[in-house]
Amino acid sequence: MSAIDTLPPLREVIASHQLSARKSLGQNFLLDLNLTAKIARQAGTLSECDVLEIGPGPGGLTRGLLAEGARRVLAIEKDPRCLPALAEIAAAYPGRLEVINGDALEIDPLAHLRPPIRIAANLPYNVGTELLVRWLTPRDWPPFWQSLTLMFQREVAERIVAKPGTKAYGRLALLAQWRAEARIVMSLPPEAFTPPPKVSSAVVHLTALPEPRFPADAAILSRVVAAAFNQRRKMLRAALKGQAPDIEDRLISAGIKPTERAEQVPLEAFCALARELER
Ligand code: SAM
Repeated sequence: MSAIDTLPPLREVIASHQLSARKSLGQNFLLDLNLTAKIARQAGTLSECDVLEIGPGPGGLTRGLLAEGARRVLAIEKDPRCLPALAEIAAAYPGRLEVINGDALEIDPLAHLRPPIRIAANLPYNVGTELLVRWLTPRDWPPFWQSLTLMFQREVAERIVAKPGTKAYGRLALLAQWRAEARIVMSLPPEAFTPPPKVSSAVVHLTALPEPRFPADAAILSRVVAAAFNQRRKMLRAALKGQAPDIEDRLISAGIKPTERAEQVPLEAFCALARELER
């Protein structure tokens, strides 16, 4: 019998530990272990890796990651009510699961992890985008992680993988695609969760590229992209007026029409503009 078979079904875990879902913590649990195993498999080969999981809750995905062979899992969970359920999983996989009770936005996990590191999570929606942006914008590249396998609201997942000329295209797409490969690998209806959220969800898999796709200074690129999309309906010569007194010339040198709108401009051209502004 494998370790996962010695653990009770998640519905029993929820009932015995009285884990009624709290909206304030973004709690929509995955109780189908076939589904959590499938998500864990999307994270790639885990056997040589430490995996950071944010928000394990009662531990459905945690079980999947361990059963798929993760060398170690470090799970950060804010809700202390989940700790006894997670302790049962730790006991079934001796030495392979460490749980930290705290806020993922405040804890530096690095001291607890050994490379190579992958991140996998059914993220609490209230902190998901903030964590993703942090993971995508470290000071140095490559980052501490090899890949991110993350559940988001479908609409956020679409913003991460969006291409130019679409409504979803913006800062998140550019941040994600500049230095990572981003794909939607699974779609999940609301009924996959307990309780069901109002909207559909999707799993995004991001792999860190060894180097950015196009050279650019990270701070300048981030500033220009933020300014361009803050006023996405304006022409770039107006939206970027504050970036340089001769912004029209700089746009032209970067190969961008000053009358274009941010939504139409591909990543490569934003990087060219960032380099122009650095001169
Ligand atoms: N991974 C579990 C699953 O798939 O069933 C639970 C997912 S639920 C969408 C989000 C989890 O994140 C909850 O267990 C919640 O308590 C936890 N959480 C919410 N905010 C958090 C934070 N700031 N830091 C760490 N965990 C958090």
